[in-house]
Amino acid sequence: MEVYLASGNQHKLEEFIEMARELELKISMKSANDAGGMPDVDENGSTFAENAQIKVEALVEKVPEGAWVLADDSGLIVDALNGEPGVHSARFAGPSANATANNIKLLHLLHGVPEDERTARFSCSLCFMKRGAETRIFSGKCEGHIMISPSGEEGFGYDPLFRPIGFDETFADLGSAVKNSLSHRGRAVADWADHVRQLTG
Ligand code: IMP
Repeated sequence: MEVYLASGNQHKLEEFIEMARELELKISMKSANDAGGMPDVDENGSTFAENAQIKVEALVEKVPEGAWVLADDSGLIVDALNGEPGVHSARFAGPSANATANNIKLLHLLHGVPEDERTARFSCSLCFMKRGAETRIFSGKCEGHIMISPSGEEGFGYDPLFRPIGFDETFADLGSAVKNSLSHRGRAVADWADHVRQLTG
C-alpha cells in the first residue's frame, strides 16, 4: 500500500516514517513532494479533523490511482488561554511565524500564570482516504503542562515547552522514541495502524 502524507512539514513526515516502521506496517510512506508538492490549502476548518480532511482532499487529486493519502492536523490547546492556539498553532505569532516566535508568544501570554494553571494538551486528528473510498478520521490527545522556559533540542514546534503528564522533561528533552509512545500523534497513529492492518492483512 502506498500512503502519501499530505503535509509540507518534514518533522511530521519523519515521525510518521519512524512510527510506521516501528509498527511494522506493510506500507510505503511517500511525501507530498513525491506527488508534485503539497497544494496550497486554506486551513479554515474549526476543528483539527476538518482541517485534516481539507488537506487530504487537496492531495488525493494529485496522487496515482489507488494510492492512499494521510493528513495530520494537530495543535496545542492551552486551558489558561481558553483553548488557544488550537487550530491556529502553526501561525500563532503571525502568518509566517516560526516555532521560536510561536513559543515566545506563548510564554509571554502565560507570564505569571502559576504551574498548576498551565495545563495544556496536544491534539491530533488524522484523515485517511483514497479516491472513491470512505474517509476515516483517527484522533489522539496527550495531556501536560507548559513550562516557564524552553528545554531540549529534539522534536519541533512547541515541544521544548510541553512537559507531558508523568514526566519531568519536555517532549524536546525526551526524544522521538518516548514522544511517539505517548504523544497525541502516536495515539492517533496506533488507531490508524489497526485500520491499515485490516486493509493490508
Ligand atoms: P499543522 O501542520 O497545520 O497541523 O500545524 C500544527 C502545528 O501545531 C505545528 O506547526 C506546531 O506548531 C504544533 N504542533 C503539532 N504537533 C506538534 C508536536 O508534536 N510537537 C510540537 N508542536 C506541535
